[in-house]
Amino acid sequence: MIEENVRSLLRQLSGGNCFREPVTLVAATKTRTPEEIDRAIAAGITDIGENRVQEFRDKFPLVHGGTRHFIGRLQLNKVKYLIGKAALIQSLDRDELAEEIAKRSLRAGLVSDVLVEVNAGGEESKGGYALPHAFAAYERLRETPGLRVRGFMAMLPDSSDTALLGGLCDRMRALYERARAEDDGIRYLSMGMSGDWQLCLAHGSNMIRLGTAIFGARNYPQTPTL
Ligand SMILES: *Cc1c(COP(=O)(O)O)cnc(C)c1O
Repeated sequence: MIEENVRSLLRQLSGGNCFREPVTLVAATKTRTPEEIDRAIAAGITDIGENRVQEFRDKFPLVHGGTRHFIGRLQLNKVKYLIGKAALIQSLDRDELAEEIAKRSLRAGLVSDVLVEVNAGGEESKGGYALPHAFAAYERLRETPGLRVRGFMAMLPDSSDTALLGGLCDRMRALYERARAEDDGIRYLSMGMSGDWQLCLAHGSNMIRLGTAIFGARNYPQTPTL
């Protein structure tokens, strides 16, 4: 099942996005076991992304291979566990987090690759820089020693309005291209989850983060009833 899903997805991605750029498929591993993650890697997954620092720390050392991303909401006091361990922190969503990642990276003698997270839909429940302020944030973060900005990440609103979603993707792509025009270290526009990845690729995303489409529906542990 995992193996079939991965092979089928990789086949569908082989032509690239709407601009024929290669697409990176990141397996979103929250709630999955190291064994399940290993099966996905054996079937062709190259990149894995975790949402929770605790799971990143406990699980990923047991996984064989895979470039490791961090994709979840990040508390300041947990940054130290990711420095030198996460190849790409995709969820840089506020200035104080940038300062903490930069400070810890410099202290370790490293530069950390990050994506600037954008709250494309302007939703209360989501983190990230507001779209109209995202370019200015990028320009500021780009100048921060200890950080190397590689692009942008967004989670789209949960909506079936494809015109709305496509429009938000187009604005994200315009932001990405504006940054890339002056900095060819900018490589990634990370947009697309199991419910909306086709639409995102049709509007210029080149990195998608899939959980359900690879591993099936998530079973969150039940609270035991006594
Ligand atoms: C869980 C998660 C995903 C994948 O979600 P699916 O709908 O299961 O594909 C992608 N990105 C982030 C940040 C996530 O937390």
